[in-house]
Amino acid sequence: MIPQFQRAARSFILLISAAAHAAEAPAEWSAGIATAKITPARPIPLEGYAHRVKPFESVDMDIDAKALALKDAQGSRAILLTVDLCVLHGEIGQLVRRRVAEKTGIEESAILLNVAHSHSAPAVKLHNKPATDGVVPVTNDETIAYTQWLCDRLVEIAGEAAAHMEPAKLSWGVGFASFAINRREFTDRGIILGHNPRGLVDRSVPVLRVDAPDGKPRVVLFGYACHNTTMPHDRLAVSGDYEGYAKQYIQEHVPGAQAMFMIGCGADANPYMRNTFERTKEYGDILGREVCRVMEAKLLPVHGPLKCAEVTAELPLQTPDRAALEAIAKDGPRLSKGPAQQMLATLDSGKPLPPVFHAPVGAWQFGQDLTLIALPDEVVAQYVPDIERAVGPLRLWISGYNQEVVGYIPSDQIIREGGYETRGLYFGTGWFALGVEEALVTAVRRAAAQAGRTVK
Ligand SMILES: [Zn+2]
Repeated sequence: MIPQFQRAARSFILLISAAAHAAEAPAEWSAGIATAKITPARPIPLEGYAHRVKPFESVDMDIDAKALALKDAQGSRAILLTVDLCVLHGEIGQLVRRRVAEKTGIEESAILLNVAHSHSAPAVKLHNKPATDGVVPVTNDETIAYTQWLCDRLVEIAGEAAAHMEPAKLSWGVGFASFAINRREFTDRGIILGHNPRGLVDRSVPVLRVDAPDGKPRVVLFGYACHNTTMPHDRLAVSGDYEGYAKQYIQEHVPGAQAMFMIGCGADANPYMRNTFERTKEYGDILGREVCRVMEAKLLPVHGPLKCAEVTAELPLQTPDRAALEAIAKDGPRLSKGPAQQMLATLDSGKPLPPVFHAPVGAWQFGQDLTLIALPDEVVAQYVPDIERAVGPLRLWISGYNQEVVGYIPSDQIIREGGYETRGLYFGTGWFALGVEEALVTAVRRAAAQAGRTVK
């Protein structure tokens, strides 16, 4: 009895002193959160599959935009916005970030906008170009009105999160989910969008937990590197796809927490067995369950200071001559014909083809505990080992689809092999050239160094 009493008394004293310590120690972080439902009020076309030009007819699941504002003990601030969209023109991403910077005073280099790439999310656009995609003009007007409304919501939630910061603790860990598969299937007919079980995929599930000082989770930020394309392709319904169900799972199992998804280098990854509603929910549950498991495991504390950097990558583009373009426009692959025609039009107008494409590359450095690399656009899995080699594999979170989603950034090997991921930019024109891999990795190295990453 006595030793038990002593043990109990000792734990009681430890509890008291821990509580006193927690009360005394100033919080190392402050965090603010906000969320907005962004399901369009009126039906507009969805993005992601060219054959689906009619507006959506139903809503399987509301989609959302979420904000997490962070401030370290020195007062450095940053904002992460995650949004359930598919594609985002660079102009819209820049506009939102500029307006958020104006509203909050936070530098644009410390504002990240991550696009979940759900193929059951609305198309967005700010200009009423002729409906080359087969969409009727009246629907274009609705899409523009929705886009303007959406931009306002993003700025609003960023402002709300930045204005209401409360003391917080940060920690992180990494799990694993297996449903992503490399989709570059090599066949006698060439490379198709299929299954390549030996192909590279990043199946890690990074998790950042933001707690109140009492340990109650306020934010669960998680990642996965896979296209959000599980839903039936001809279904005209709004959904967040697997990541939407994963967020639902997490919010049901971690009451009071805001679940946020940040997609990784999943440009050449699809969910294994897709095109079904049932799989979408199943994969969301699998991912959500894994995130909850990681949260309950021993997470590593994340200290400050926070330093954010952004550099511009200069990604080389191919500059084919007129004869090559004419040949492609006539007999080339289906996805290349349109861009070839547009490039010919550029040459016809007396302008040269641009030799490089500029894209933003970010790095957020959390003390010496974690580096968040923010790649733009649709980046293939090869960039994960590339970046691990370039800046060291430890305490590293690599995300893609940040700031803009305007095309596929392949590796050099993929450019040599061909296939869907070589289609390049899908607004404007341009196919990435050999050397793109080194150019992007060089930009990551610069961003990580500027942010202060020293881990190797
Ligand atoms: Zn894609």
